[in-house]
Amino acid sequence: MTVAYSCGHTEERKVYRTRQAGFLKSCLEERVCKACFRTLEEHDTFTSSRAIGLPMLSGTDKAVRWAYALRYKWIMGFIGLNPTLRGEAVDACGRRRSASWWIDHRYHLDDEMGSNVLETAAIPF
Ligand SMILES: [Zn+2]
Repeated sequence: MTVAYSCGHTEERKVYRTRQAGFLKSCLEERVCKACFRTLEEHDTFTSSRAIGLPMLSGTDKAVRWAYALRYKWIMGFIGLNPTLRGEAVDACGRRRSASWWIDHRYHLDDEMGSNVLETAAIPF
């Protein structure tokens, strides 16, 4: 059935014809479509990254978008656990400006960045 999202886009969605189908359709129609949701999410990551003082990243559009998400997720997790090291974490992240670095190190950001932050903070580890 065709779902008309609140953003104005429509999508063909496979919804099984059950008694809940109408309810499901109306729930979906209160939301924005998948593409708009991604854009909103990215926009949020960009503006939030800027707000906490993280610099722009360099690379292809696709790499930059991915790296922004990786970096933001990592720093928010880190700050959540170590709120007193927020400034050091932002500084350490600021020294990695290449999107490909974040993508290449995505599976061990805690090791890579964690020790960088501690170095910045001059805490022995
Ligand atoms: Zn949309």
